[in-house]
Amino acid sequence: AENRRLIASLIRDIPDFPQQGVGFKDITPLLGSAEGFRATVDELVAAAPPAIDVVVGMEARGFIVGAPVAVALGAGFVPVRKPGKLPAATYEVSYDLEYGSETLTIHTDAIKPGSRVLVVDDVLATGGTLAATAELIRRLGAELVHVAVVMELAFLEPHRRLAEAGLGETAITA
Ligand code: 5GP
Repeated sequence: AENRRLIASLIRDIPDFPQQGVGFKDITPLLGSAEGFRATVDELVAAAPPAIDVVVGMEARGFIVGAPVAVALGAGFVPVRKPGKLPAATYEVSYDLEYGSETLTIHTDAIKPGSRVLVVDDVLATGGTLAATAELIRRLGAELVHVAVVMELAFLEPHRRLAEAGLGETAITA
């Protein structure tokens, strides 16, 4: 509970970013605080079920919070990236945004089939990024066993979108 209070106190609201009318949760004060970053990693690690083989983090803040969680768990780390960034063969999944669409990619050989995967990201908003990431993990034949995020924006109803994507049973800690 003390960790949660510290974490909440170090995330700030930036109005009208990246566009007018949108409120952005800025986690840079949290990352910049030694105690805050430690508390964040501890909370994400505590959410993980046993025997995680691989942590998957999404570009770009999912790398920052996911990598230390992987080390703490004794797991590997696999990046999910925007198009054109990964050098070897990739799978791609596209999803709709409010305006336009986004594509995420993963190396086709990044995770062994049957591996137990923990997805880590900073903010769960509409759920589109997570749904696409789950689809990439499924394509590799791996098992998404848990999702741990620093913060969930419940008013954007991510669980509705995730249920529509067939992820209604996926365990999420926020
Ligand atoms: P979603 O796909 O769930 O709508 O958005 C989640 C993704 O966008 C995450 O990878 C997250 O990093 C980023 N994101 C969306 N909104 C915010 C926000 O308010 N603050 C931060 N830090 N990231 C956000």
